Formats: sequence, structure tokens, C-alpha cells
Amino acid sequence: MNKMFLFLPLFFFLSCQQQQENQQVSNQTKVSSQVLTKENKWKNESTIKFLFLEESKIEHIDIFISQARKWEKYINLNFEFHKIDKTRTGLLTPKFWRKTILVKFDPSSSGGSSKLGNGYDDSLFIKSFMTIGTDNHIQSLKGVILHEIGHALGLKHEHQHPDTNYYEDEEQLKLICALYNIKEKEECSVNFKREERNDQNEVSQYDRFSIMHYNSIDGAKLNNGYALTSGSLNLSLSDKIFIAKIYPKKEPLTLEQIERMHEIDVEQEKIEFRESLKNEICEITESSELCGSSAPYTIVINGFAVGCFEDINTAYQFEHNFCGVD
Ligand SMILES: [Zn+2]
Repeated sequence: MNKMFLFLPLFFFLSCQQQQENQQVSNQTKVSSQVLTKENKWKNESTIKFLFLEESKIEHIDIFISQARKWEKYINLNFEFHKIDKTRTGLLTPKFWRKTILVKFDPSSSGGSSKLGNGYDDSLFIKSFMTIGTDNHIQSLKGVILHEIGHALGLKHEHQHPDTNYYEDEEQLKLICALYNIKEKEECSVNFKREERNDQNEVSQYDRFSIMHYNSIDGAKLNNGYALTSGSLNLSLSDKIFIAKIYPKKEPLTLEQIERMHEIDVEQEKIEFRESLKNEICEITESSELCGSSAPYTIVINGFAVGCFEDINTAYQFEHNFCGVD
């Protein structure tokens, strides 16, 4: 079967890990994407403030806000967006002491990092950053933003779901972490170790298309035997169903409503995707460097790799559909 794999940049994995490690160590949390620890949940109906650093570019703020809204419409949390006022110095005003996430765009990185859920609320004065690397194709940047906001809602990585089976013992886990350039044991464990089913966790079905799933790389088979994940750049249907259940609206969304909203989202995403690729230079390169030898055909758009394919014909089809190349 022909498959297309869109992926977040490899560096994404690395930068994603560090803050979660801190978070996990300090709070002893046990969470997974579509597995979420109750203690990391924000109180339902809360207003969460995203506070952008003063040097943030307006185009990045705009993209961030539109991505945040993609989560927000499924939940009973309100998002507010603010930018630090250049004319003010020193401490943040009391408005930003609680339930505030400082957002930093980092032009030198293509990844991101975030604390988990209400972990942002652990200190009044010393705020933790969510970092968003902007050295990315816009579609990958959008994916990174959705992923980091997922963490900020309390979700952890989907490949850590209790139903995954990509490693059997500590030794194999260590080898997989090494493939992702992670050598430190705690960091490896926090980002890759399988979660358990227990009273603290809320768990939904494993979803390999979740925005919270890492891309598997050659040899890692993170994805229950698949060499690669879809590396989704958008919220999956079950991401939406799960988060709607975690933060239910006063009148909870029904499954049918969510499915209908999802269909509309998917149409919109297709349009956005085509729009962003218009007039860009599409190339197909053959290299196992990014996705491994099982999907060596990589589409590169304006210098950014955006997808890997198992066979050349699917790669051509993608190029034709999205880049208008015959
Ligand atoms: Zn992550």
C-alpha cells in the first residue's frame, strides 16, 4: 500500500524533551497523549493566557493564534493572547501571575518545548517558556505549535500510550533513545517509556495519527511495527474526541458534532496546505537520512523537507497535487 508520511523535523524531538523532563521529575506526573493525568488538567472553564515575548513577529503570533483556536473550539477553556508591553519593565502585572504561558519564538530552532498542563502554574513569578522554533516550513511550524499546545493542555506523547509495543525491555528502549540521540536515562524514560493504565491516567485508544505522536525513524518502529508514523501535522479526530472529553463544554459536544467539525477542519486544512505551497519550489530527493530507508523519497519544498514516501510514484502524485508540478 502506498503511504505518505508528513513529518515534523527531527530536531523537533530533541528540543521537545528537556522541559518535559524537568516537569516530569519535579511533579512526578504520569501522563500520555490520549492518556492524561488528572492532576495535570487545568480546571475546566479556566482562561489560559498566552503571553508572547515582545520581540515576537506578528506573523508568528497570527499563526500561533489560529493553531490554538483549532484546539480551543473543542474544549471548555478560553484562550487569551497578549504580547509583553515594550514600555513596561520588570515584573509581570498581576493579571499574568496565574494561568499564563510565556511563548518564545526561536528562529534558531525547528522544534519546540512545553511543560505539561497546569505545570505552567507552579510559580507566580518565575514563568516557564513554551518555545516554538520558527526555522521551519510553515506547515511544519503549524504542526509544532499544535503539538506544544497539546502538551500545555496536559497531553503527553502518544507513542507512550500503554498499548504500544515498540520495545520489550530497558535495553531496547535505550537503543531506541540512542536513535533519537538521547543518551540520558531520565530523558529517555520521560519521553519514550510506555505509560501504565492506572487510576491517575485517563486513557483513550492508541492513535498513530495523533499530533502528539513522534515520527518513527528507521529502526525505531515507534508505531507498533510500522517503520514510520504518519507524522501528522494536524489534529486527528481522536485528538479532538479525547480533549473534548477532558475539558467538556457545558453542553458536551456529541461524537457526531465532533465528526462534523472534523470534516470541515480537514477541508480547511487541505486549502491551507495548497495555499502555502503555491509558487514554491518542489523537489523530490532520494535519501534515507530523514525518514529511513523504508521511505526514501523526500519532498523538499523551498529547502524544507515536508514529507517522505515509500515509493516514487506516490511522491510524484504529491508533487503534482500540492505543488502543481506535472
Ligand atoms: Zn512533545
